[in-house]
Amino acid sequence: MESARDKYTREMVEGEDLWMLPQVDKYGYECGGCGIQVFPASYEQSNLQRPHFRKPQKTSHKENCDIDGDEKTVARGKKGSVRNELETSPDLSPSRLTLRDERPIVDPERPPASEQTSSARATARLGDDGRARAKGRRAANSIRPICRAFVRFPFDRQMSLDVPGVEEKTYLQAFKKLRGEGIETFSRARIFYAELAWAKPQEEGEFLVIPLSAGEWSKDKKLVRPYKVRVAWSQWSRYKKTMVSNELEVVRLEGIAAKKKDEKHRPYVFFVAEQDSNEPAFFNVSDHRLICGVLGTISYPKL
Ligand SMILES: [Zn+2]
Repeated sequence: MESARDKYTREMVEGEDLWMLPQVDKYGYECGGCGIQVFPASYEQSNLQRPHFRKPQKTSHKENCDIDGDEKTVARGKKGSVRNELETSPDLSPSRLTLRDERPIVDPERPPASEQTSSARATARLGDDGRARAKGRRAANSIRPICRAFVRFPFDRQMSLDVPGVEEKTYLQAFKKLRGEGIETFSRARIFYAELAWAKPQEEGEFLVIPLSAGEWSKDKKLVRPYKVRVAWSQWSRYKKTMVSNELEVVRLEGIAAKKKDEKHRPYVFFVAEQDSNEPAFFNVSDHRLICGVLGTISYPKL
């Protein structure tokens, strides 16, 4: 499973978010669909595989859980519209991005006593019977689930999408592919995307600079002026840096593996950004929730 619910905060957590935690609570997560215990997997910060969640082998999801149904919807969504399912599914096609104020990872107000932990637990569970789920599209806490939906459901890109700072309000219009026909000018922020270049991102001064496989090509097919994402990360915690650099490295490796297996999937970088006004080959990102790496095949069916 790509995501699970944090038992204490009640928020959905993406596997990749686990890279950002100084310590992962192995028992702190449950299925977002039915509430069974699930366990975080491959989240070690040195582990270059995507973190995810697993249910115990001998446990099944509860009958009301729509996890299996979601997988079928994803499979069918490649071939045609699954709009009705997306409208009633909380996680498959987020309706908006909500950037909440980030909580401190350790609450300084909270005494380290164990009774505090259990009272936090009790409060978090009040009013939650594991069944009273909102049947509708949920907000996402980062762009990753939104970008996955863009890749997965090419026939449903007319669905609404509200990303702060992006004027366009459908998936179709909010996303913008960076192409290989020279450096273009974009007047406003979008969810830009392009294939990741083979070269690794580099730390340059206060920035992480990520080369993309798009921009200006020479006649002998060399990328002479690539677009680049410039991440202003000097003020970030070590953990945030780890999450972003791990995800970029993982998607790069996933892309290399896909190429070796002759699969069509490509490593894409998605980011919400404005183009740099002085250096139009650059896009500036400063929030880790506004950049992600996704392996996939992006198709553009004629509707
Ligand atoms: Zn479940």
